[in-house]
Amino acid sequence: MSIHLQETRRRRTFAIVSHPDAGKTTLTEKLLLFGGAIQMAGSVKGRKAARHATSDWMALEKERGISVTSSVMQFPYEGKIVNLLDTPGHADFSEDTYRVLTAVDSALMVIDCAKGVEERTIKLMEVCRLRDTPIMTFINKLDREGRSPIELLDEVESVLGIACAPVTWPIGMGKRLKGVYHLVLDEVHIFEPGKNFTRQDSTIFKGLDAPGLLEKIGDEAMRELREELELVQGAAPSFEMDEYLAGKQTPVFFGSAVNNFGVQLLLDFFVEHAPSPRPRGTLSRDVQPEEEKLSGFVFKIQANMDPAHRDRVAFMRVCSGTYNAGMKMVQTRTGKDIRIANALTFMASDREIVETAYPGDVIGLHNHGTITIGDTFTEGELVNFTGIPNFAPELFRRARLRDPLKMKALQKGLAQLSEEGATQFFRPLMSNDLILGAVGVLQFDVVAYRLKDEYNVDATFEPVTVTTARWVHCDDEKKMAEFREKNAMNLAIDGAGELVYIAPTRVNLQLAQERWPQVRFANTREHA
Ligand code: GDP
Repeated sequence: MSIHLQETRRRRTFAIVSHPDAGKTTLTEKLLLFGGAIQMAGSVKGRKAARHATSDWMALEKERGISVTSSVMQFPYEGKIVNLLDTPGHADFSEDTYRVLTAVDSALMVIDCAKGVEERTIKLMEVCRLRDTPIMTFINKLDREGRSPIELLDEVESVLGIACAPVTWPIGMGKRLKGVYHLVLDEVHIFEPGKNFTRQDSTIFKGLDAPGLLEKIGDEAMRELREELELVQGAAPSFEMDEYLAGKQTPVFFGSAVNNFGVQLLLDFFVEHAPSPRPRGTLSRDVQPEEEKLSGFVFKIQANMDPAHRDRVAFMRVCSGTYNAGMKMVQTRTGKDIRIANALTFMASDREIVETAYPGDVIGLHNHGTITIGDTFTEGELVNFTGIPNFAPELFRRARLRDPLKMKALQKGLAQLSEEGATQFFRPLMSNDLILGAVGVLQFDVVAYRLKDEYNVDATFEPVTVTTARWVHCDDEKKMAEFREKNAMNLAIDGAGELVYIAPTRVNLQLAQERWPQVRFANTREHA
């Protein structure tokens, strides 16, 4: 087998999806510990503040080094290379999450055993659905009293519409938690707070009749377990690889992330069964990861990752071929060749120059404003990967500058931060206003904070009479010129130089659409 093929097959690229507080950060940390990627728990903590409040977000910014490099975490485990792509927790950053989900091959869903399926989980599952992403499920916080495991599986099945195949089963819960039973390995793993870090550090019984087990967990727990297993093994399907890969069945694990309990069972199963890089669709054909020529797409852009260097980094998922430092790639949107010598790779706590990368890996390209989200890079073939979503802003504010002399810096900051895709920046044709569009209201606070911190610009955002934006196109140039002239009051240029109709009201937009049937009004900027 070629090195390229070997390396491709051992990649596992995934993201964790969950409702805030279910335990994603804690689980991430434990997974990194297993991978030897971090020495001490706590390293991932800084970034979770983002979703709680702006003030927390600001504190988080001070720890930027930690927070942002951990957006892609790579670690080896059991001969496999695991790439864990972080997703922001706050709903105001959900577009970012959706795009990250286009760059993974599978997902891990974390559910709080007391809360069950929550609203954000439902939304994120819908996104996974669109691409039939295979999903494993971890039901967390077993050390607390929660809902009955059977009820939880029922809820996942009925609310999320995916069949559950329990792989581990809890023995008790909360104060009565004794351990879990592994249905596939036929093993009982005893819950021992402060231990359970590795197999060696755990008490494991082979089978339910193993000597000593009954004494260990007691009659009542044993009876309950046998009863539940009988029920579950009768009613629930057993794990089926094909069903899992098709996104129709989810293997389910129970545990307690904070106690490190049940996590290794999950990780072992994950690296064995989760898919290696899968084919990706382009406008013309599917690209197979086994193909020798490099291809990849950009799913995320981050400005000022390293404040000392003021760099902007585009995150590219490799879809086929091998990346080698110094190679030439073509950006298929523009047809331009670029030579990449210093792409970055991301470890949990460091980033370094990457020499080689394989399908499933994510590399960071230095961006000087020429790369946009959704861009495809190849070794020459002009294909475009599809399915990277663009979002229409729903909230609009005008930037107000405290110091008018900082106008240039403000423009630059708004333009660069908007490359990240969470906000969009519009300059009306007829005024000197700078208007920012966003999907979530927290974005304005974040941008104001970052303008100050990263661009030394003091700006606030105030209401503006813009209700919605539409990217306008017309094949007839004369008509377009006429449209432009008649509607100059409501037209603006976006960060990429595209013409946008910014409507003061929905009625106004409707009238404009009726009056100009030749003009197309698109919800989002169209990718070439
Ligand atoms: P996230 O918002 O999904 O990233 O959740 P966190 O990992 O930050 O966890 C939210 C809260 O739940 C934190 O206070 C954690 O310490 C706590 N937590 C996480 N895992 C467990 C667990 O297994 N048991 C208990 N009791 N608490 C947990």
